[in-house]
Amino acid sequence: MNCSHCHAADTKVIESREAGGGESIRRRRMCTACNYRFTTYERIERPQLIVVKNNNVRELFNRDKLLAGLYRACEKTSVTSVQLEQLVSEVEQQLYECGEVEIQTGKIGEIVMDKLAELNEVAYVRFASVYRRFKDIASFERELSDIRRRKTEVGSSSKETVEA
Ligand SMILES: [Zn+2]
Repeated sequence: MNCSHCHAADTKVIESREAGGGESIRRRRMCTACNYRFTTYERIERPQLIVVKNNNVRELFNRDKLLAGLYRACEKTSVTSVQLEQLVSEVEQQLYECGEVEIQTGKIGEIVMDKLAELNEVAYVRFASVYRRFKDIASFERELSDIRRRKTEVGSSSKETVEA
């Protein structure tokens, strides 16, 4: 691995630790020529997932793109970048486990929203509003009452709030 600063060929690993719940390894490296320190991640090589968008256009699943969207949704919330990395890893894992190479964009969105709803309500609503492109305030409010109902179902099954 070449130094990302001076491009010298000789760098050494100064620390290795598991990341993403054992799905990847994070390594701190140091250049022996200029002492520059940088981080690399090692991941299991998997077949590329293809995302089928609503207009039937296909593109490669892009982890960074999903992560960027989530960062926007989680701006000024208590959600940490570690939590988001974890969330994206879980989504990826779930997508691989369904065993299909081509996945509808809608399916990915549903998985993400399920996980985001558990994590942070504000982030969830923001993500959902971009993702579902709410046409009107009514569908937005339906979505909100949906998530609140799901939360109370998880919390106590006897109490259920119904909002019209
Ligand atoms: Zn260097």
